[in-house]
Amino acid sequence: MHSDLILENAKVITFDENETVHEKAYIYISDGIISEISNKKINISGAQKIDAKGQLLTPGLIDCHTHIVYAGNRANEFAMRLKGASYAEIAQQGGGIVSTVKATRKASVGELTSSAKLRAQTMLDHGTTTVEIKSGYGLNLETEVKMLRVAKSLGKILPISVVPTFLGVHAVPKEYKNNADGYVDYIITEVLPVIANENLATSVDAFCENIAFNVQQIEKLFLAAKKLKFNIKLHAEQLTDQKGAVLAARLGAKSVDHLEYLNPTDCSVLAQNNTVAVLLPGAFYFLKETQLPPIQDLKDNNVPIAIATDSNPGSSPFLSLPLMMNMACVYFGLSIMESFKGVTINAARALDLNKQIGSIELGKKADLVLWSTDNINDIVYNPTFNYCDSIIKNGIVIT
Ligand SMILES: [Zn+2]
Repeated sequence: MHSDLILENAKVITFDENETVHEKAYIYISDGIISEISNKKINISGAQKIDAKGQLLTPGLIDCHTHIVYAGNRANEFAMRLKGASYAEIAQQGGGIVSTVKATRKASVGELTSSAKLRAQTMLDHGTTTVEIKSGYGLNLETEVKMLRVAKSLGKILPISVVPTFLGVHAVPKEYKNNADGYVDYIITEVLPVIANENLATSVDAFCENIAFNVQQIEKLFLAAKKLKFNIKLHAEQLTDQKGAVLAARLGAKSVDHLEYLNPTDCSVLAQNNTVAVLLPGAFYFLKETQLPPIQDLKDNNVPIAIATDSNPGSSPFLSLPLMMNMACVYFGLSIMESFKGVTINAARALDLNKQIGSIELGKKADLVLWSTDNINDIVYNPTFNYCDSIIKNGIVIT
């Protein structure tokens, strides 16, 4: 047997087919792929060896919902909100998503890349080896394309895999004020074909909400996206029940995200269509929401639950998945292992990558994290202590 890297004596926790815990495992890696998992040492010469000393080895974490490419700073807006300013007041003073769109349109590729690189590096430092990144702060062809190119480039300059998502239908830009239909038509006819031709995204996402786009507009977009072979996913039921999640699931969405106002009776539709429920506890916390997603109904219907940072300047500036796991446990009542499953195999399912990543199994990519503890509870219990010790990306030790 050939192997480039052997991880010896690791405590492996992974949600594979059997939800296995391997005590004292030996993981053999060849050409970036997991080639053998054994509880005994196999003598192979020439391979790099790492003694895990009984510490925890997990799949690299997967952040399946982020908006980390943007310009501008909304920390002052946070301070205004703390003083009681409403969204309308903030918008009047030039804040909100409008300010991010303005700054992102103005920013150069270099500026966008350097700020997003710092965010992605911080994610990596906390164990994230795959990150989904959405556009959606350009709201015109030029800037949406610029954002997606920057997102994709991060995967070349950092040892992190990037899954780019086109979110042109995020908000109605000022050029289409009071004409959301016209904007959706513009996206479908002038922007989507360019994103497809230049292979700039694998999924199309949108924001279905009474302050954004309605289900008719979303359906039109998704039918066009499916024709161009994009996966689809949706920001749904965050502030009100628009039945966006049901529409998206019926059209084959890989995930529906947020879901605070999802009607419990709609959980079965997600289950029937293998649609992952992506919960975003950072936004729930930061916006001081009180309406909880229908967690128990999702579980009763066996809907896979993923957890992500939703990292964005307005409602969840956070970058650490262990912090999100903690919040998912505290706010949403998930168990530690449910939260772990939410940032590994179920996050991979939300990105349609569960055949390649998300668990430690033969034939999967060797994206792994070695933690400085043997107890997964530690990582979730105190996310301000970074237990991430070593990261292996594509079979190469990078830290
Ligand atoms: Zn989002």
